[in-house]
Amino acid sequence: MSAIPVTIGRRMPLAAASERLDASAQGAGSASGRPVIGDALVDTHGRVHRDLRISLTDRCSLRCTYCMPEQGNEWLAKTSILTLDEIERIARVAAADGITTFRLTGGEPLLRTDIVEVVRRLAAITGPTGAPVEIAMTTNGIRLPELLPGLIEAGLNRLNISIDTLRRDRFHELTRRDRLDDVLEGIAAAGASDLRPLKLNAVAMRDVNDDELVELVEFAIAHDAQMRFIEQMPLDAGHTWDRSRMVTQDEILQALSRRWTLAPVPGRGGAPAARWTLDGGPHSVGVIASVTAPFCGDCDRLRLTADGQLRNCLFSTTEYDVLPILRDGRPADTVDAGVDGMLRSCVHGKLPGHAINDPAFLQPARGMNAIGG
Ligand code: SAM
Ligand code: SF4
Repeated sequence: MSAIPVTIGRRMPLAAASERLDASAQGAGSASGRPVIGDALVDTHGRVHRDLRISLTDRCSLRCTYCMPEQGNEWLAKTSILTLDEIERIARVAAADGITTFRLTGGEPLLRTDIVEVVRRLAAITGPTGAPVEIAMTTNGIRLPELLPGLIEAGLNRLNISIDTLRRDRFHELTRRDRLDDVLEGIAAAGASDLRPLKLNAVAMRDVNDDELVELVEFAIAHDAQMRFIEQMPLDAGHTWDRSRMVTQDEILQALSRRWTLAPVPGRGGAPAARWTLDGGPHSVGVIASVTAPFCGDCDRLRLTADGQLRNCLFSTTEYDVLPILRDGRPADTVDAGVDGMLRSCVHGKLPGHAINDPAFLQPARGMNAIGG
């Protein structure tokens, strides 16, 4: 499988960025012919966008095999990483345009030294109706025990923590770091907090952790959390994904149904996980089946990379560069309009669905750690 080379950490020339912006303003359309800040972010397939995933860094304390290479990662240029003020500015425009949830991710978001301040600034943003936005985070859990009180005080609403295995040797092999205890402490801290729903994520992998699925669900229940299994996606930096080795949603459900009676939970909306109750509830399990049961038709998500690229899909090979708009010295009152235009351009370019299942599918050049999961 080959990839379209999306240059990571290098900016699009400003003239090209402005051209794209103008095209978007014409293409996205509104009753008056030009969309304005405050108009909802609706794509050409009618999907309204409510969720912005903000990647805060491509750095990480782990090296999960399905995400990052062990060595030789091409890091994003430090000078291109969005500052706290820049993130806030983009988020304010996005909220005015109807984004109601900001999910902080990475890389590992807790590696960002200003993480508490990021949460505080974003949590203070309100939408057009005056309602506060929701702040969620996806993390590997390391550093949570020390940071969680500050994050909650700053306004964090929800947490997803990744844990693929409960066995120390496996964890070490899978993440290339011997840090299972740190992750378990992070999950214990989250479990003891009031943040709910608390979700635990595991990528299901053949001959790696597919014999642990029931155990992981039981572990989640013991922490008053919901377990969610993710089908492995072709987003690893090493481009080694192999469809024939992937554990499918059907296989996950089959394994769980040997232990519980599963019943589908209706009303999924735009959520990536389909859910099933366990033995009639109250506990449930989620499966994110991006490969075998794509949910693109209801997708309401946009992504912002740590280096200021807007993406309309995990699998997109096109990016929309916001950084020049923030840094080219234009008058302050036109910056917001520029950011708004780039958001609309990104939404306007969104395809009806990803093409993982198309034989011509091209994996994006960025690994998952540089996109933001
Ligand atoms: N470091 C944090 C963490 O691991 O939760 C946040 C970033 S990580 C990229 C976000 C989520 O993406 C994690 O739940 C991780 O398991 C998932 N992920 C990473 N690479 C993946 C892949 N190739 N296929 C499916 N899920 C993946
Ligand atoms: Fe780090 Fe998360 Fe990627 Fe694992 S999945 S390497 S924890 S960014």
